[in-house]
Amino acid sequence: MTANPLVLVINSGSSSLKYQLIDPHSDTARAGGGIQQIGEPSSRVADHEEALRLAFAQLSEAGVDLQSCGLLAVGHRVVHGGKDFYRPTLLDDARIADLEKLSQLAPLHNPPAVQGIKVARKLLPDVPHVAVFDTAFFHNLPAAAATYAINRELAERWQIRRYGFHGTSHEYVSERAAEFLGRPPGDLRQIVLHLGNGASASAIAGGRPVDTSMGLTPLEGLVMGTRSGDIDPGVISYLWRSANMSVDKIESMLNNESGVWGLAGERDFRRLRAMIESGDESARLAYDVFVHRLRKYVGAYLAVLGSVDAITFTAGIGENDPAVRRDALAGLEGLGIVLDEGRNLGEASGARRISSDDSPIAVLVIPTYEELAIARDCAALLAGS
Ligand code: ADP
Repeated sequence: MTANPLVLVINSGSSSLKYQLIDPHSDTARAGGGIQQIGEPSSRVADHEEALRLAFAQLSEAGVDLQSCGLLAVGHRVVHGGKDFYRPTLLDDARIADLEKLSQLAPLHNPPAVQGIKVARKLLPDVPHVAVFDTAFFHNLPAAAATYAINRELAERWQIRRYGFHGTSHEYVSERAAEFLGRPPGDLRQIVLHLGNGASASAIAGGRPVDTSMGLTPLEGLVMGTRSGDIDPGVISYLWRSANMSVDKIESMLNNESGVWGLAGERDFRRLRAMIESGDESARLAYDVFVHRLRKYVGAYLAVLGSVDAITFTAGIGENDPAVRRDALAGLEGLGIVLDEGRNLGEASGARRISSDDSPIAVLVIPTYEELAIARDCAALLAGS
């Protein structure tokens, strides 16, 4: 038994299911884990229901009985909230039907989340289930940043706008950055660089996002592990017409066979580094393309914000790869960015400053913790605040 109620946070992807059991009032997980390769031919886990049953068995092995541990809620990460879902939402049959309709907008991301929600409700019917949306933080992006310059009627009819993703992370990390600097978020202009397998940048003024790199889908923006990021849309019609590729094939190529992986056949930055060091030219090019795009976004957001107090790196690459941080910001002293080499290379793992003390712009590394942010959203919703 624990003193505080717990939230089970579930992140259900197409072939993986990650979970953490979190006390929203602390900042560590009671237990957590993940099941990979769901539904793949070589896997012993056929579907999300089996995966969740396996997760519960793992929790029980770790000494957690979900029936008696004081479970307050199950929080589900949902990638796309469309135009209507931008607050943590208590799920019932009607809301789930609405979410299913949104799958057209996010066919690669939302269906597995909906599947996870259905299975979790079946297995834990007496606990409130809450959806928290990756798009929520960016709901009020200024129109100039949210609007694509395409036919307006068509855009409205099909709800085509820039939604932005990784919102839970950008919000959490920007708040932690303000805390780290000892200043209210309302006083700060920030750039947050979330660099994981998926990667995105945001410009935040006074706690509100004013621009972000992902768009209608999480495909736009930075170069990613397997996603292209920004690309001339003309490439799509050209491939369709000339290479005789179907739309599905092109979409899959841009999402799963592009980015760093598409250029170098490797998406993990630790192995990419080893390849570069052994003289692999494709790995070098992939790295350079990745860093070049990142620098472009930093420059763009400096201009969007006018002046910047902090640039913060987060997620797997942002938290762990000092070379990416150095190369993305090298030579920008004239713009107020002065890294401290020793701090950047340091072994520390928590929130830290990697700029020199006299750098006009503070450069920080802040570990993201999306599950905790989701758990807190759930607790706040159920407490009625
Ligand atoms: P996801 O988007 O799947 O949540 P993460 O934020 O966990 O991804 O980031 C995963 C990526 O982080 C890995 O693919 C790898 O490229 C990178 N990464 C993790 N650890 C390190 C490290 N020590 N050095 C460099 N890159 C790392």
